[in-house]
Amino acid sequence: MTWDAIVVGAGPAGSATALHLVRAGHRVLLLDRARFPREKPCSESLNPGAVAALERLGPDVMPEILAARPAHLAGFRVHAPSGAAMEGRYAAGDDGRASGLALPRRVLDTILVRAAARGGVEVREDTTVLDLTRASDAVAGVESRTPRGARETLHARVIVGADGLRSVVARRLGRRVATPPRRVAFTAHAAGVSGLGAVGEMHVGRGGYVGLGPIGDGIATIALVVPVATARRRGRELCGASGDAFVRALDAFPALRGRVPPGGLVRRVLATGPFAQWTSPSVADGALLVGDAADFFDPFTGQGLFAALRGAELAGAALDAALRRPEPVTARSLAPYTRARWATFAGKWALERLIAVGIGWPALAERVIDRLARQPALAAALVGACGNVLPAHRVLAPRALAGMLL
Ligand SMILES: Cc1cc2nc3c(=O)[nH]c(=O)nc-3n(C[C@H](O)[C@H](O)[C@H](O)COP(=O)(O)OP(=O)(O)OC[C@H]3O[C@@H](n4cnc5c(N)ncnc54)[C@H](O)[C@@H]3O)c2cc1C
Repeated sequence: MTWDAIVVGAGPAGSATALHLVRAGHRVLLLDRARFPREKPCSESLNPGAVAALERLGPDVMPEILAARPAHLAGFRVHAPSGAAMEGRYAAGDDGRASGLALPRRVLDTILVRAAARGGVEVREDTTVLDLTRASDAVAGVESRTPRGARETLHARVIVGADGLRSVVARRLGRRVATPPRRVAFTAHAAGVSGLGAVGEMHVGRGGYVGLGPIGDGIATIALVVPVATARRRGRELCGASGDAFVRALDAFPALRGRVPPGGLVRRVLATGPFAQWTSPSVADGALLVGDAADFFDPFTGQGLFAALRGAELAGAALDAALRRPEPVTARSLAPYTRARWATFAGKWALERLIAVGIGWPALAERVIDRLARQPALAAALVGACGNVLPAHRVLAPRALAGMLL
């Protein structure tokens, strides 16, 4: 049988794209190598823009997320290497939205993949895509490994690569690009963390940074992000089963010292990276990429889930239009997706690059955080732009940039 679309990867980008397509009347197969629930290394916060995209996903999704008792995040506090801090709240959003949410990815992603199945998507877990198949140079299907270990070829009019940072679909299309800053993340969950509040925390240090925040049930999610050279040197130690080295590494950040109790980790340390990676262009004859498979620069601004869910909306609209025509789905027929991505994400791409590169310079981070601490309106605008409730150009305008630097 030939499906209308095969979506590879049932993370937020894949489950949401599959759901949009099935609702538009297409026959969709969603494949994931994992069995859900599964863990995913992430800081697990949904910014207000991502929350809005989840609300648009259907009436049954958000009630399930709220029933999982997520933490509510009112904004972010960012600490400089000295420990000095600035704080911005989401309340400045144009649409009045005041809150982000945070919950474990094993819960969020399972809610989304189950919603896709309920919506009519055929979901096959424990199924790994190994390669793409082609007909007359266009992508025509995937070569997969079934749960029993057999190889199977599956055919579709279009293949959607939503298989994350190390996307096999993107690599087989031959357009994956990797650039600096080359960073790797180590993530864990901890209980008994002192001083957790209503905002997420970012701690910039001399050799990396940490994201910390509540995810409900008294648990904190912690991500330690370091240059790839540090990860090579210390990776094994940081992933140690006791978690002691990971907790000790947090003490290098002044405003974290002593807050995570020894033996406080309640989930093993998971590593991911290196970033940054993207694929250009994100469409091909018979294929389209969404979420991290299309691009992922750096986790500092916490916009990956927004990009996955909003990207799924853009992909769903472009794929629906292309699939409604009788002719093959080509890169040309998917060009509206490329244009929509530029229109939607160009400001975000600029902002996350500026910030991700800037935090690699401790003196610069110190200065900018000091300036923002004295200008609450500018701090709120920055957090609002990173929360995808305010347009990025508000903080990329020369006057705003000067206010952060001078
Ligand atoms: C340290 C860190 C912290 C972050 N913190 C945040 C945050 O707080 N907020 C935020 O919004 N974003 C955050 N992000 C970004 C966010 O995690 C990603 O952008 C998001 O997960 C992208 O979703 P996705 O669906 O594209 O990919 P993924 O969530 O990675 O899903 C990809 C899926 O594809 C499957 N898959 C992979 N290969 C195959 C294959 N060959 N065959 C079949 N299936 C396959 C995987 O099993 C997985 O289920 C963070 C990222 C990192 C690294």
